[in-house]
Amino acid sequence: MATEPAAPVVIVGGGFGGLYTALALAEVRHHEPILLIEPQERFVFLPLLYELLSHELRSWEVAPRYDAVLAGRGIAWLQDRVTAIDPDQRSLTTASGRRLSYSQAVIATGSTTQTFGIPGASEHCLAFRSLADVKRLQQLITTLRQRRRPLQRLAVVGAGASGVELACKLADELDGSAVVELLEQGPTVLPQARSFNREQALLALQRRDVRVRTATAVQAVGADHLSIGPAGETLPVDGTIWTAGIRAQPPALTAASDWGNGAGRGQLRCSADLRVIGADHLFALGDVAQVPDAAGHTLPCNAQVAFQQATCLAANLRRAASGEPLQPFSYNDLGEMMSLGRQEASITGGGLTLAGRAAYELRRLAYLTRLPGRRHQVKVAAGWLTDW
Ligand SMILES: Cc1cc2nc3c(=O)[nH]c(=O)nc-3n(C[C@H](O)[C@H](O)[C@H](O)COP(=O)(O)OP(=O)(O)OC[C@H]3O[C@@H](n4cnc5c(N)ncnc54)[C@H](O)[C@@H]3O)c2cc1C
Repeated sequence: MATEPAAPVVIVGGGFGGLYTALALAEVRHHEPILLIEPQERFVFLPLLYELLSHELRSWEVAPRYDAVLAGRGIAWLQDRVTAIDPDQRSLTTASGRRLSYSQAVIATGSTTQTFGIPGASEHCLAFRSLADVKRLQQLITTLRQRRRPLQRLAVVGAGASGVELACKLADELDGSAVVELLEQGPTVLPQARSFNREQALLALQRRDVRVRTATAVQAVGADHLSIGPAGETLPVDGTIWTAGIRAQPPALTAASDWGNGAGRGQLRCSADLRVIGADHLFALGDVAQVPDAAGHTLPCNAQVAFQQATCLAANLRRAASGEPLQPFSYNDLGEMMSLGRQEASITGGGLTLAGRAAYELRRLAYLTRLPGRRHQVKVAAGWLTDW
């Protein structure tokens, strides 16, 4: 009699959390069947998106194809989007109408841009999170450089790490053809950054004549202007890039339970071992998961956290499959690296503070070791050696 094939471990979303969990799970011989569900063709290494914008790196380096990364690893990839998960039935539904069963599932669907209901923001702002966003921004830079009208202006909303890094790269790419404005509603740029990195970032912004406006809330966004500050002053712009907030984007969870969907930025509430609270056999990590650290604080949404959680989660999935107790995730903050314009960066971590060209090269090398899969790392390193 033919036996039913075992339901796979299903990983929903192939970004930092999901892809690296799948790769870590597949490192063990004779692992359970693994299915990765991800709608995009390419994994995007988001911290290097700035270098893609400035043509310092190529798209195949920053965004390898999933079929190439997963080849020969025993991980099946379904190019689809999960629309709903039913934890009681241990099944999920995809946008193309498939219904699939899982033994254990991992939600790693990340986050999206959050515009806080500011009028016009979602219609008129560009985002900076995908290859398509990079293309659109490169086209805008080309237009502004060719047109060279007086008083051209690009606005970046949000002076967190993304906004500051983007403003520096944009200023370098625009090469004086437009002014870059960096708007922040809080009192300072990079409120959560290490002080050395913040100082270096302020110097980098100053050197590039980026106009920094702190304590300036954006009230509304139009196609060619922003309304800013308490009086709604009009700031004419040739484009606005929104980096000011993120919101988790989990698929709908059916069945009547408290999944904690309202917590924080719309994240799923998880226990320290990365299980979604109230749902057996369902785990979450990365930007979509609200996971407490040992002191009960919520962990930041960044690639470093997602990357480390992936290793912990792969081990917990194996433990869960063999009935062993799960281990809590413990975050090891390795420091902070920031891209600050062409061939410039700033690093604080591991007892080291470094800025400028040396930091740029070190950052590139550090990320080389984090690219997915040894094959891709070697290919990228070979490309860099050839360029050199
Ligand atoms: C421009 C930029 C620069 C950044 N730089 C840094 C940095 O320097 N350092 C740092 O630590 N962090 C950085 N971050 C943050 C970091 O990239 C994120 O915290 C990290 O990617 C989170 O990983 P994740 O797996 O949760 O989500 P993601 O990496 O965003 O992956 C989510 C994946 O899920 C897929 N997906 C979404 N919905 C579904 C669905 N319904 N079904 C199936 N798949 C789905 C998406 O296509 C995507 O591939 C940066 C972010 C951005 C946008």
